[in-house]
Amino acid sequence: MTSKKGFCPETEMLVEFSAGVLGPAESICVSAHLHFCSKCREALLQLDQLGAKLLGEGEGEPSGKTSFEEVLSKIEFADEDVKMQSEPSDEKQVVFAPVVDRLMKHNLKSLKWKKLSSSVEMAQLETGQNVFEVSLHKICAGGKAPVHDHQGLEYTVVLKGSFSDERSVYREGDFILREPGQPHQPIGAQNGECICLSAQSAPIKLTGPFGFLMNKWLQIHPS
Ligand SMILES: [Zn+2]
Repeated sequence: MTSKKGFCPETEMLVEFSAGVLGPAESICVSAHLHFCSKCREALLQLDQLGAKLLGEGEGEPSGKTSFEEVLSKIEFADEDVKMQSEPSDEKQVVFAPVVDRLMKHNLKSLKWKKLSSSVEMAQLETGQNVFEVSLHKICAGGKAPVHDHQGLEYTVVLKGSFSDERSVYREGDFILREPGQPHQPIGAQNGECICLSAQSAPIKLTGPFGFLMNKWLQIHPS
């Protein structure tokens, strides 16, 4: 759908995705973006072919796909018990990238929109990992999110509608990376609500007698 040039993940990210070494949360974001971006799908196809060649034409399985696929298989598995209870909702069905759809089904029981401000709502998604907090953000038409900065990395993929900030306008499928020290204020487009998938590197909280030391250690040695 997005034919004009949009915001895409860095090539290194696609390389890591293709090699199967990208973390689960980042992979979810890249997958969501791929749903919209034919340019990146094409690039990925080439990387995959290149990777297969490097692996020695069909020798061995593409190693390393574990983490992301593990997460997806967990979700698929968990889908089973969700299906039984999911009522056909009367809400207009929005079709998201399949990976997000699957995540949402998995989270159906627990998907709760929390108001963050008068114009922003957030629903956390359970993804089976806790390095990143993966969630959906909804900004109402013309709504202003509070100005905020990030403690860690934040990946955002626009799933529906568009928003803008001080730097640019972001449309469906756009993949945005924010680093600490880049405060911004997203503003929803006037013509409708905007829904984004986001992954924020989450502070790891540990309890117990060594929690404090572990937290310190994890800050220095993030996995
Ligand atoms: Zn792209």
